[in-house]
Amino acid sequence: MEISAKQRLDDFMSGFGRRNPGQPEFHQSVYEVAVDIIPFIRENPIYGDHQILERLTEPDQIIIFRVNWEDDHGHFRANRGYRIQHNNAIGPYKGGLRFHRDLTLDTLKFLAFEQTLKNSLTGLPMGGAKGGADFNPKGKSEQEVMRFCQRFMSVLWHHIGPFTDVPAGDMGVGAREISYMFGQYKHMTREFTGVLTGKGLSFGGSQIRAEATGYGCVFMMENMLNRKGDGLKGKTAIVSGSGNVAQHTVEKIYQMGGKAVTMSDSSGFIFDPDGIDTEKLAFVKQLKNVTRGRIHEYADKYGVEFYKDQRPWGVSCDLAFPCATQNEISGDDAGMLIRNGCIAVAEGANMPTMQAGVDVYDEAKIMYAPSKAANAGGVAVSGLEMTQNSMRLSWSEDDIEKRLYRIMKNIHDKCVKYGTEGGYINYRKGANIAGFVKVADAMVACGNI
Ligand code: GLU
Repeated sequence: MEISAKQRLDDFMSGFGRRNPGQPEFHQSVYEVAVDIIPFIRENPIYGDHQILERLTEPDQIIIFRVNWEDDHGHFRANRGYRIQHNNAIGPYKGGLRFHRDLTLDTLKFLAFEQTLKNSLTGLPMGGAKGGADFNPKGKSEQEVMRFCQRFMSVLWHHIGPFTDVPAGDMGVGAREISYMFGQYKHMTREFTGVLTGKGLSFGGSQIRAEATGYGCVFMMENMLNRKGDGLKGKTAIVSGSGNVAQHTVEKIYQMGGKAVTMSDSSGFIFDPDGIDTEKLAFVKQLKNVTRGRIHEYADKYGVEFYKDQRPWGVSCDLAFPCATQNEISGDDAGMLIRNGCIAVAEGANMPTMQAGVDVYDEAKIMYAPSKAANAGGVAVSGLEMTQNSMRLSWSEDDIEKRLYRIMKNIHDKCVKYGTEGGYINYRKGANIAGFVKVADAMVACGNI
């Protein structure tokens, strides 16, 4: 980066830091974007005149509320609920809800900012949002989860609507929680509308929604490999996580002829050198979605190694799919991946690579699909769910999977359009600029509101 652009970046980030103290994840996500956008704005000064980057890094509004509920022992409990309505320049606010013990405003601000650019990349008319609660779903009974979801929605319903803000799932929030919240929304409003996505199939949900993030991530990888005349077939992949995104990433890798050899949870990872096939994946789905057990049970059942409290980045592979959570790959981990032969990374989780790791990918010039591009398939199928709800019809599984593939190919091609640097494709830069341009043009057109 030339000196004056670097100076501009430093000035911007120090102002941003003053306005958002103690929010390192929000800071990290904005820095990763500003690195590419500030030089782009210098070439396209209209975005500077309209202060688009300054406006885009300030959420439209943030709603924070207390959620009172009662546990199974009759004790009163209080949690904190959030909704960050980040930007609605190109469509209603849209993004998931996360339930996690350690959830903070910082994490949600980074996720909502990323969501705005991600949703723009899908090509569908969706703004960006994120929300959730510091509710820990681990160890809670079915009844407790239901009561919490109902109380959460009994506040949130005031702020959302099919043309205003459409929440969905994220970590700790799946079809079960979405359904309870949808039930409560209906109860409060007496309206049956597509106000949440990820609903059950019999009440407005879409085919392939559950699979979409993982499948889309693998499609993104396939497109990057195809561009080089290569493909997934015969490749060894390491995957982190064992939730919805990781499960469907592993499923699609297997279907496309690759071999996923690892999965993980917060207690460690399993390494299965023979690969995780359909039968073994069915075991993981049962373990994680129904009995809600720990990943070492896979190792016990199939006689493979379990690495307690470790992440899989030291296992040699061709491809890596971080699908667990933010900041799970450090600079050292990224270096280890590359030394062990990894040629491409596609991020199923949101911002799983720390800034030092991104620098390592850049330096090594590997194929690196950042989360806002690689995991956009989930929200893209949410967008298709909204379309089906508005049309009052349902498309077939095959139809949605084809649409998802096309959306991921388009995202890939946009990254190539804006990220070509000589013979190398900088997918991170491509995704940042392509996501930014659409939102920025809408903000310019709509005036200073
Ligand atoms: N939570 C998902 C994401 O990070 C999906 C959001 C949605 O479907 O609205 O993109």
